[in-house]
Amino acid sequence: MGVKTRVQYIESLKTAKPDVYIAGEYVQNVVNNPFFRTSINHLGMGYDWANMAENESELTFHSPLIEEKVSFWTHLRQSTAELKQMVETIKRFSAQHVCTMCMGIGLCVIWATTYEIDQDKGTEYHKRFKNFYKKIQKDDLRFALGVMDPKGDRSLSPSQQEDPDMYLRIVKQLKDGIVVNGAKMHTTSAPCMHYFLATPCRVLSEKDKEYAVSFAVPIDTDGITFITRPAAGPVKGKEFESPVSSKIGFVECLSVFDNVFIPWENVFMCGEWNYTENLIKYFSSYVRMAKCTCVSARTDLITGIAALAAKSNGIEKASHVKHKLNDMIISSNIGWGCALGSVYESRMHPSGIPIPDISISNSGLYQTRLRFVEFLGTLQELAGGIVTTMPIENEYVNEKTKPLMEKYLKGKEGVSVEDRIKIMYLIQEFTASNFSGYLMSSAICAGGTPETNRVEVFRNYDLKEMVKYAKALCNID
Ligand SMILES: Cc1cc2nc3c(=O)[nH]c(=O)nc-3n(C[C@H](O)[C@H](O)[C@H](O)COP(=O)(O)OP(=O)(O)OC[C@H]3O[C@@H](n4cnc5c(N)ncnc54)[C@H](O)[C@@H]3O)c2cc1C
Repeated sequence: MGVKTRVQYIESLKTAKPDVYIAGEYVQNVVNNPFFRTSINHLGMGYDWANMAENESELTFHSPLIEEKVSFWTHLRQSTAELKQMVETIKRFSAQHVCTMCMGIGLCVIWATTYEIDQDKGTEYHKRFKNFYKKIQKDDLRFALGVMDPKGDRSLSPSQQEDPDMYLRIVKQLKDGIVVNGAKMHTTSAPCMHYFLATPCRVLSEKDKEYAVSFAVPIDTDGITFITRPAAGPVKGKEFESPVSSKIGFVECLSVFDNVFIPWENVFMCGEWNYTENLIKYFSSYVRMAKCTCVSARTDLITGIAALAAKSNGIEKASHVKHKLNDMIISSNIGWGCALGSVYESRMHPSGIPIPDISISNSGLYQTRLRFVEFLGTLQELAGGIVTTMPIENEYVNEKTKPLMEKYLKGKEGVSVEDRIKIMYLIQEFTASNFSGYLMSSAICAGGTPETNRVEVFRNYDLKEMVKYAKALCNID
């Protein structure tokens, strides 16, 4: 049954016993623990969406791998048309719900890389990965994507680090599997997933061979500990004051691997350092295409909020307001245009999947991610200081202070005070809260920092050819 329900997802979590620390406490099951409520709810939303009749053609697919219906999160895109449909879905759902949880793109990256290794070396990585993929599809499972290592001194390669565990590494190869040690950083929602999927985060040299490792394991495998940061929203839902982060939020983990045994059937790369260059290239293409889309969608979302705020303050007709909304729309279009461009310019990989254009996706993300952060400031500017100075929800539910808030927090005639307060709390969430810090960091750092975009764009540009054109124009040989 390739499309599960929220209830089935939550039931499946109940049997897992991962080792988790959160807020100073050790917990072994995340279901019903308030710290995991929003992470589980967000993943649950995905299961709900896939079961809604109106989303059927967008969020469910026929999988040729298992000859069954599967969900958006596990489907393997095998054509440009399917890739286009994927970004359209991310754009629509992220503009409405902040995040579509599009980590499934990691599967494509490992799909292509394992195929290449097997073709060249006669190994069985792709066959194993295909089996893992089928399992994920059949049971509609979710996985944490562990790419980023702690990295220690950024100027040094993995093997040059003083502590060899700064990057996750193979410490032993046994007859029936491998043993890995080290950690992955920033693994979003890991204890609420079924599997942990690890891959290297950088191009490696022969000296770094033991760091070239990719595998999947159930999250409650012996030796894995998740040191978990609570999500950015309130632990107990406060929907009036925190309308978004009361429902949507993500725990983040330092995921520690203490001599963890991985059976061969779940190992997808073991020492093949010379394939990490392509792996990172495919990652960069896919992640940046998805992030371009996501930043564009989130820019759409805050454009709508900005228009609402302007109206509630009675400034919607002012020329500077229109100008600011227009800047947001243009930036959103740039991101979206580049996401689509990277899809249209994708090329088919011999493994049967399209690889988005690396240069266009990185350019789009570079141009829009920091503007998104700038627009959070614009949102504050349009809403005014009320966003950070208004009384909190407790005063609005107190019969003594509510009438005073009703009198003095009024904006434009025709917008109820309660609605204006709701709008301002929403803007507080997006621009002046723990949640806004999370959104900013997600725009700036998640999926690689802006500098990595520049590096990819420059590396993939044919500058020599352009210099040749320039020379021809001014008659230089
Ligand atoms: C909200 C959020 C969710 C995330 N979720 C996940 C997830 O689920 N899975 C996952 O694997 N990762 C995840 N990440 C991690 C993300 O991919 C990294 O944060 C990102 O790639 C940047 O790496 P870093 O944080 O180590 O920063 P760094 O790479 O340390 O970057 C910091 C600065 O140092 C510079 N720098 C780095 N190396 C060098 C160098 N050699 N020379 C010169 N300058 C250098 C960078 O350009 C940047 O300016 C998430 C991050 C965020 C913020």
